[in-house]
Amino acid sequence: MLRPSQEAGDNHEQVAADLDRRLGRLPTLEARLHVVAQLAPGPIAFSTSLGLEDQAILHAIAAEGAKVDVFTLDTGRHFPETIDTLARTEQRYGLRIRVVTPEAADVESLVARDGIMGFRLSIEARKACCEVRKVRPLRRALAGAGSWITGLRRDQSAGRSHIRFAAVDCEHRVVKISPLADWSLNRLEAFIAANEVPINPLYAQGFPSIGCQPCTRATSPGEDVRAGRWWWETQDGKECGLHANPRRPVRGTAA
Ligand code: SF4
Repeated sequence: MLRPSQEAGDNHEQVAADLDRRLGRLPTLEARLHVVAQLAPGPIAFSTSLGLEDQAILHAIAAEGAKVDVFTLDTGRHFPETIDTLARTEQRYGLRIRVVTPEAADVESLVARDGIMGFRLSIEARKACCEVRKVRPLRRALAGAGSWITGLRRDQSAGRSHIRFAAVDCEHRVVKISPLADWSLNRLEAFIAANEVPINPLYAQGFPSIGCQPCTRATSPGEDVRAGRWWWETQDGKECGLHANPRRPVRGTAA
């Protein structure tokens, strides 16, 4: 006899496989969000970094009137332009984006140990900072959610080239949905322009991927899109931990 956690995990696997098939056949982002709103296990959460991808998705969510918990992680180290984009986005779409912050005690302990710029000391120190300022708050923000919408695209980096439209995320026990998985940057920019979606002004200043201010630099023409993120590290595996292990099964399930 299956335990409840196994049944929930198996159900998530089936729904993810079904969504993965369906989303790939739908031509527009709005149509994909419509199907997600109908079929994805609830509550449905959407984490926005205010990047191009997430702004396009939020536009489609607003257009569809989809019932989605929209939140963003305020690491405390964002560019002022990112915060301004958050405010302009709320105004444009007439909604409130839930702002999730790290635990103050965690940040105080981290900074006391490594220093205010300690993330430059080593990859371990950088990951510790991302853990406190991003990974733990994300875990808290997703608690109780059934699905998690993200703006991941396959051509953002080699490490994201196998992103599926929908897959079970064992770490957060949700169905992780990436409705832009197959979109090119050109298609995304065309959507943004056609719909006059508000974007971070830093894109026009040579920042194709925008994270925390001290960990993001502008890139030169021809550089990888994510070359400006943690630029002092090697190019391989430059992730903050938010999107680790997307294809592992939910704990307690078989596959
Ligand atoms: S991107 Fe940089 S400042 Fe932001 S959480 Fe990670 S290490 Fe810390």
